[in-house]
Amino acid sequence: MDKLFKSLVFDSSMSLSILDTTDMVNKAIKYHGLSPLAAATLGRTLTATTFMASGLKNEKDDISVTIAGDGVGGKVTVCGNGKLYMRGSIDNPNAYLPLKSNGKLDVGGCVGKGRLTVVKSMGLKEPYSGSSELISGEIAEDFAYYFATSEQIPTAMALGVKIGKTGKCVGAGGVILQALPFASEEAINKAESIMGELSKVSTLIEEGGIEGVKDKFFKGIDGETYYPRYKCLCSDRKIVSVLRSLGEKETRKMVEEDGKIEVVCQFCNKKYVYYKEDVDKIFNQDVKRKNTKI
Ligand SMILES: [Zn+2]
Repeated sequence: MDKLFKSLVFDSSMSLSILDTTDMVNKAIKYHGLSPLAAATLGRTLTATTFMASGLKNEKDDISVTIAGDGVGGKVTVCGNGKLYMRGSIDNPNAYLPLKSNGKLDVGGCVGKGRLTVVKSMGLKEPYSGSSELISGEIAEDFAYYFATSEQIPTAMALGVKIGKTGKCVGAGGVILQALPFASEEAINKAESIMGELSKVSTLIEEGGIEGVKDKFFKGIDGETYYPRYKCLCSDRKIVSVLRSLGEKETRKMVEEDGKIEVVCQFCNKKYVYYKEDVDKIFNQDVKRKNTKI
């Protein structure tokens, strides 16, 4: 079960988040048939976005993160809501690059140069939108830079995804420290030294989960635990509303050309099929509804 642990550390001058997102990454691998490199790239983005979703005030608020780089993986998209239901996709699920000289997957090469964009809908008229340049494409540094420049929050982030020999994820997660406005230099130094030891956060998660990370660096601290998960929110109702917004003429044209309309969800690969009689029903209902309003 995936977990997100939150607490305040260093005399309550920093917020700490520790995430175990192993199950989420395995769901993404199952849905998209991800190569190890694509799994690491999407998995790190899922982890960072889960952390960001935990900052949303209401369960219905949602967040969408796009990492658009020129690397072999193409665009990475992750969405989630205040309930921590997360979903994601990557343009090239088969992305491959040779391992780096340190034996790690080349996530920076998979992402390339480009931009990270965050859109948060929080029940206001206009969604909040922020964007920053990608620093290395390694994801953690890119999010830390986004927080520093777009949201003015000094942030240290370590993310990791470890893929086993069978192609399954054996450990994924992250550690995030964010300075509150009154954080002392001493606290910031402590945070930096801990981050320096977190280059293998996925191995720590694999071996001991969130407790393992806590025991090693933050022994005895209390906090709250949340349970994020990979859950797609697509539904027949949502697809029907998209077809309605396309308009009757366009929708009928589509169904006449191919005999059916097939819509495959980008996040969970669920297939929705509509035949002519379904289209009739969709638009007849529409007429009925209009009539009852009059
Ligand atoms: Zn779906």
